[in-house]
Amino acid sequence: MESFNRICLMLFLFLKLSNQSDPRLFQRKVANYPAMDVVGPKPKPEWITAYEQEKAAGRIPNIPPAIKLGPGSIKYPSGVNPLDPNVCSWTMGCKSPHDINDAPDGMMGISFDDGPQGGAVELLRFLKSVNQTATHFMIGSRILGNPKDFQAALTQGDHIAVHTWSHPLMSTLSDQAVLGEIGWTLQIIFDLSGGRLPAYWRPPYGDADNRVRAIAKKVFGLQTVIWNHDTNDWCVTSQDTNTCGNAGPANQAAVTSEIKGFAASSKSPGLIILEHEITVHSVRAFSDSWSTIKAAGWDTRPIPSLFNHPWYQNAIGAFDNPIKLNSVLNATSYINDQLTRPTKDLTSDVIASTSNSSLSQNSTNSPQSRAQSGMSRKEFKSGQFFLVFMIISLFSQI
Ligand SMILES: [Zn+2]
Repeated sequence: MESFNRICLMLFLFLKLSNQSDPRLFQRKVANYPAMDVVGPKPKPEWITAYEQEKAAGRIPNIPPAIKLGPGSIKYPSGVNPLDPNVCSWTMGCKSPHDINDAPDGMMGISFDDGPQGGAVELLRFLKSVNQTATHFMIGSRILGNPKDFQAALTQGDHIAVHTWSHPLMSTLSDQAVLGEIGWTLQIIFDLSGGRLPAYWRPPYGDADNRVRAIAKKVFGLQTVIWNHDTNDWCVTSQDTNTCGNAGPANQAAVTSEIKGFAASSKSPGLIILEHEITVHSVRAFSDSWSTIKAAGWDTRPIPSLFNHPWYQNAIGAFDNPIKLNSVLNATSYINDQLTRPTKDLTSDVIASTSNSSLSQNSTNSPQSRAQSGMSRKEFKSGQFFLVFMIISLFSQI
C-alpha cells in the first residue's frame, strides 16, 4: 500500500509538472525573456546564425538604417533613395508589391494592433457576440505583462500575429536589433500558444523597408502586412479625448464616423483598416460601426483568411494541432507542402503518413520526424486523462 501511495504521488507530481498551461510555470519562464519594452533586445545565437546564412546568400540587402526624426518620422542617410524599389520604405511613400496592403474586392480584413491592452477584454466580448474572429498584431512586451488576455484571444479562436517586442521604428534599427524585436515576439507567442509559429507581422507605424522585410521573411518566415485605411484611433485617450493635437479624431464618436465612412466607400480594393485595442474607446468605435459594416455587405475576415492562407506557419487554423517545431525560425521549407494539403488536423495527418514505409528514415529535420518526435498538446491532455483514469481504477480495486 505504501509503495502504491508513492507511485500515486509520483504520478501526481508528474501531472503537475507537465501541465503546460500552469501559470506558475509561465511566471518562472518570464526571466527567460528580455525586459519589457527594451528596444532591440539581444537575439538568440541561433537566430544570428540563420541571419548570417541568409545574409551570406545575398538574400538580405545592404540598406543602411534610417534615422529617427520623431514619432513615425524618419530620413535615410544621403545617397539612399527610399523610393528606389530596391529600398522601398513604406514610411517614405513606397508601396511594396510583397506587402499585404489591400483586401480582395468586397472583403474587409479585421485586425487590431498593440494588444493585449486596455480594450482587449471588451474587444473579445464583442467579437464573440457577433461570431467574428480577428487578427491581433500583438506586442511581445504586452503579452509578457498580460498573458491572461493573450490566452483569452487564443482560446476564443482568434488569430495571433507579430507586432514587435517594443514597438519601435523598425527601419531605424540595426539588423541584430530587428532580429531581437521580431524573434522574441515570435518566441513568447510560440511558448504560450502550444507551439504555434505566427506567419504574419505588422511593422509599427508601417515602417518597413526591403532590409527589414527580408529579415522578417527569410529568417523568420513572416509576411509583412500594412493597411490601406487609417482611423488614427490611437489618438483617443482612455478619457475619450484627443492626444494628437490638431491631428487625428477628437474622440470615439469621430473614429466611429470615420469607420462608417470607410464602410460606405468603394469595395475595390477591399478594406484593411488600421485599428487598435489600446482603449475601450478605440474598440467601441469599431463595435458601434459593426451594423453599418455588415449592412454594406462586407465579407469580414481575419487577415490570412482574406486569401485562404494558413493562420500559422505550422497550423492552418485556430484549433489545429501545430506541427511540432524546435525553434521560431522560418519553417517554410519543412512544412510548405504539408500546409497545402487538404487536411484539417496537420499533426494527425503527418503522423499517419509516417506509417508509410516510403518515407525517408534519416530525415531528422522533416516535418514528419518533427511531428513524430513531439506530442501535441491535445494528445498530451488525453494522456493525462488516461493516467487519472488508471489511478481511479486502481483505487476502486483496493
Ligand atoms: Zn502599433
